[in-house]
Amino acid sequence: MKNAVIYARYSSDNQREESITAQIRAIKEFAKREQYNIINIYKDEAQSATTDDREEFLKMIKDSKSQIFDTVLVHKLDRFARNRYDSAFYKRQLKLNGVRVVSILERLDDSPESIILESVLEGMAEYYSANLSREVKKGHYENAVLAVHNGGIPPLGFDVGPDRRLVINKHEAIAVNIIYKMYSDGYSYGDILSELNSNGFKTKKNKPFGKNSLYEILRQEKYIGTYVYNRRAKNAAGKYNNHKENPKIVRIEGGCPQIIKKELWLKVQERMKKNKRIGGQNKAKVNYLLSGKIYCGKCGASMTGHGTVDSKSKVRYYYYVCNNKKRTKQCDLKGVKKEDIENMVLDHLYKHVFCDSMIEKSIDKIYNYANKKKEGIPDLLKSYQKQLTIIDNEIDKVIDLLMSGYRNNTLKEKLDKLEDEKKEVENLIIKSEIKLNRVDYTREEISEFMYSFKDLKSMSSIRQKKVINIFVYRILIYEDKYDMEIFNNPIDSNKNKKIRQQRVTGHPDQ
Ligand SMILES: [Zn+2]
Repeated sequence: MKNAVIYARYSSDNQREESITAQIRAIKEFAKREQYNIINIYKDEAQSATTDDREEFLKMIKDSKSQIFDTVLVHKLDRFARNRYDSAFYKRQLKLNGVRVVSILERLDDSPESIILESVLEGMAEYYSANLSREVKKGHYENAVLAVHNGGIPPLGFDVGPDRRLVINKHEAIAVNIIYKMYSDGYSYGDILSELNSNGFKTKKNKPFGKNSLYEILRQEKYIGTYVYNRRAKNAAGKYNNHKENPKIVRIEGGCPQIIKKELWLKVQERMKKNKRIGGQNKAKVNYLLSGKIYCGKCGASMTGHGTVDSKSKVRYYYYVCNNKKRTKQCDLKGVKKEDIENMVLDHLYKHVFCDSMIEKSIDKIYNYANKKKEGIPDLLKSYQKQLTIIDNEIDKVIDLLMSGYRNNTLKEKLDKLEDEKKEVENLIIKSEIKLNRVDYTREEISEFMYSFKDLKSMSSIRQKKVINIFVYRILIYEDKYDMEIFNNPIDSNKNKKIRQQRVTGHPDQ
């Protein structure tokens, strides 16, 4: 258990603030929950906010030197100090004594609204970093149009020439020919691999060949002289999907030298297609859009995705099923069809959350929230910079003294202490800059982000899931109804829309 003290403060001219008794009661509850051992309570009752009547506060600061407690619990941070500078000053003193300040209210702020606004900001950070890579891709596209190599390792059989175009690597080109001929003659991957490896051929990374490297080589269009860029599409999770061709593919016939005859290449593609049909069935991964958001209304357990095959029709159906029911059979809630509930949620988001008027309101709300979070950070940064300059000057002075021949331990100790302080302030600066970055958006940027949700219904399921993660608070499933709690009134979080829907579907066995 951590030892803590309580500090409560009340100024009588502020009608809205909690009385000292209420502050202390709330802090005690918090301490119990978070396992703090309260060893003392300090309280100041000021006649007005401006009078500097903080006897107990100063006593607490003094007592912190004794190091019998390591935490000061306050109700709200503004109870701790009168202003930011003051706060930084006393916090630093406490820190030097190994004591930190914890505000219970700021910690307890987990209202649905702030959770949602926080996740919007998170989504934005992702969105804008994705845009950045979009810009980089544009540069790649322009290179490809000129059939100039885009960087990275060229395919086996090629090197990059001085003009950044592909040239043939004769030794490797032999390996490419062996691969194509053997494959079209019906040899297995295993046969081809042992042929290559026993002849000492190596991949571009100077490693023995493996199955994956063969697959890539057998599909490579550059071997027939067609320069291809952007063949593979990345899914929203950032992974390449090898089995789907990107609609934005770029092909330049004759854009690079040819290694394989076209007939042979086409024959190989034909065989690959055939093999794929035999091998890769039922591979599609099911993406449950609502996992983590959907709960059993009966027992409170979360519900998770579950697939089942109808014994007669052999058709596969997908459900969300109560976990408690799955594991312990102690709940008897009927499973809910994945498609039904997901469509209902998407439909609602599309119609009500991403309609123009709501988007406009949301933009304001997000902008204000971000601005509020930004508040004070630039000032704080300035004060840190100032502190840093002061420390730097001090360090210079000490070093000057040491250089001029004053060699004593006190000076050395002082220098160490100053260096530590400098590191601490530098860390604070970095932290503040990160914080600032997270909320520093223009209204236009927020607007662009919000309007991108208009495409909700045609988005990839991975992106849909991200949107649901942000805007859906939770969904409760009952025997006869669904309750969806969705962020669609951004003006007042207490009026988060609760939609109640009659439940008509349900699998009797699930
Ligand atoms: Zn249940």
